[in-house]
Amino acid sequence: KLYNQVQDLKGSIRVYCRVRPFLPGQANRFSTVDHIEEGNVTIITPSKYGKEGRRSFTFNKVFGPTASQEEVFSDTRPLIRSVLDGFNVCIFAYGQTGSGKTHTMSGPDELSEKSQGVNYRALNDLFLLSEQRKDSFCYDVSVQMIEIYNEQVRDLLVTDEIRNSSQKGLNVPDANVVPVVSTSDVLELMKLGQRNRAVGSTALNDRSSRSHSCLTVHVQGRDLTTGAVLRGCMHLVDLAGSERVDKSEVTGDRLKEAQHINRSLSALGDVISSLAQKNSHVPYRNSKLTQLLQDSLGGQAKTLMFVHISPEPDAVGETISTLKFAERVS
Ligand code: ADP
Ligand code: MG
Repeated sequence: KLYNQVQDLKGSIRVYCRVRPFLPGQANRFSTVDHIEEGNVTIITPSKYGKEGRRSFTFNKVFGPTASQEEVFSDTRPLIRSVLDGFNVCIFAYGQTGSGKTHTMSGPDELSEKSQGVNYRALNDLFLLSEQRKDSFCYDVSVQMIEIYNEQVRDLLVTDEIRNSSQKGLNVPDANVVPVVSTSDVLELMKLGQRNRAVGSTALNDRSSRSHSCLTVHVQGRDLTTGAVLRGCMHLVDLAGSERVDKSEVTGDRLKEAQHINRSLSALGDVISSLAQKNSHVPYRNSKLTQLLQDSLGGQAKTLMFVHISPEPDAVGETISTLKFAERVS
């Protein structure tokens, strides 16, 4: 049955769109999202973006502003099972800063059981499913957490002492791999990762929106009867904000950051769209992110992209370019 559910996922690339609700206290409640119908989302556009002032986009699924964290996760579950069956999985959160990427992956700042995001729920499911299979499989689960900022990889699962002594440039194989046996272990590590990620940020300089963060879960399962070993891994990626930066307004470090982000997001788009089109050449080498994820993008691996949009009319330009990006990779 489990195997059938995995095969029910048609194709290996899926795109889900999520629309953020207006935030409490927001005055303007005119939404650019005209309506949502099954896999379609229709945007009201100023005339310069389309003839009728309306544009529709189609995805595997569209979650409206009232969709709960649980609903959003429920359509992700079959992918979690496939990790235990030895598949590699990538889940991405894409969208402009403020559109809800971190909300989807990690949850809001004030976390409760109900508000937990995909990361925690995915690990929770892994533990539940491996428990259910314990008579036939023995699973080991371990995690890594890294950040990519200006094409440099930083390990987020380090303590101060370790970080001070470690000068070498990190890549994923070098980053700490920490065994976990419960969701509370994972929560502790996520907190450590968040704390490490905040280093280098200030109130005016929120680095987290300009770096990619990646939680990688490695699963090794041993078949207790045959002794055969299965390996699967899952990357949960909260991408840097996709907004275009006005080159006339930024200089120096900000410009460099913006260029790195643009380049790496378009490299990711190029990889996924060439996989979707089944091209023989897939340009993995064009960014750190796609290099690191190469083994988990394409082949037997499964990819899920959550694209996030904001409802505000001010954001419509970014909303359209986000939806175009998403259309290209689906
Ligand atoms: P991003 O990571 O894309 O920059 P955030 O996830 O930080 O965006 O979201 C921006 C704000 O909107 C946060 O205060 C977050 O809690 C809120 N938010 C985002 N998505 C939702 C949602 N689906 N429901 C309620 N609040 C949301
Ligand atoms: Mg964020």
